[in-house]
Amino acid sequence: TGAVNVMVDVSSGPQTGSDAAAAAHHLADDLAAAIAQKQLHLHYQPVFSAAGNLSGFEALARWVHPERGVIPPSEFIPAAEESGLILPLARELLLQACAEAASWARPLRIAVNVSPLQFRHGDLPTLIDEVLVETGLEPERLELEITEGVMITDFDRTMLVLHRIKALGVRIALDDFGTGYSSLSYLHMFPLSTLKIDRSFVANLGVASEAAAITRAVIALGHALDIEVVAEGVETREQLDFLIDEGCNYMQGYMLGRPLPAEQYADLTGRKS
Ligand code: C2E
Ligand code: MG
Ligand code: MG
Ligand code: MG
Repeated sequence: TGAVNVMVDVSSGPQTGSDAAAAAHHLADDLAAAIAQKQLHLHYQPVFSAAGNLSGFEALARWVHPERGVIPPSEFIPAAEESGLILPLARELLLQACAEAASWARPLRIAVNVSPLQFRHGDLPTLIDEVLVETGLEPERLELEITEGVMITDFDRTMLVLHRIKALGVRIALDDFGTGYSSLSYLHMFPLSTLKIDRSFVANLGVASEAAAITRAVIALGHALDIEVVAEGVETREQLDFLIDEGCNYMQGYMLGRPLPAEQYADLTGRKS
């Protein structure tokens, strides 16, 4: 199977435009083979409540490329979106995440990131329903993470799709909140369970005073709308203490746990291996 991925890299100097295009093309080619060969898998990062209890995990995609090593999702998700491979890839990852969570002894939540393209193409509610039936995962344990990008394109369709997903009993989180363009009025129109404060704000707590003001405001906004608030990217004790003091409901970050293969968290999940 290795032959599929053998590439001759002739570009040792800076890439010209066409070299860059060729590299992107190769990445998309490799990606198709990688999906077929199941080279893409998920790492799991724990999420804790303010009281310090484990509430669940976020599934984060990893591609271990035979020659290039680990390719981050910031590189291959855009390539998958451009090539249209995101739909089969997303199906595979959703199935993996739900099957994994269904294997845990503890009824923890599992959060899965979805691409804006999955809203525009493909029947996301039907896919979710099929995956829940196939894996036996309770719908309340699944949370989909969407970004503000899905809210600005095709409002009516997004609204319909989100309500159909909500009707399945699945939770919906708005990821990277504060970095996109969504109108505040959308927040109460869309059936959101969770707001995730972007880690750029968390990183600036104690560094730039407006980060504290924004974080405090997002927590208050979430609570006023009856939406739970998660802070991502918590790396220090000071950040954690600030977030707990301000009433943030859940925290996630390297300080609390890194994204790792599921086996490594078996003691926390009660994973049946
Ligand atoms: P995200 O959903 O906002 O995920 C959080 C990112 O922050 C992850 O990066 C995670 O590893 C990283 N992170 C978590 N805690 C910390 C921390 O304390 N400090 C720092 N510096 N970083 C932290 P990752 O895994 O590289 O993923 C990047 C983005 O790629 C994700 O952002 C998400 O938008 C996207 N992504 C990842 N997996 C998938 C997937 O399966 N499907 C789709 N559509 N997108 C995905
Ligand atoms: Mg996310
Ligand atoms: Mg996020
Ligand atoms: Mg983020």
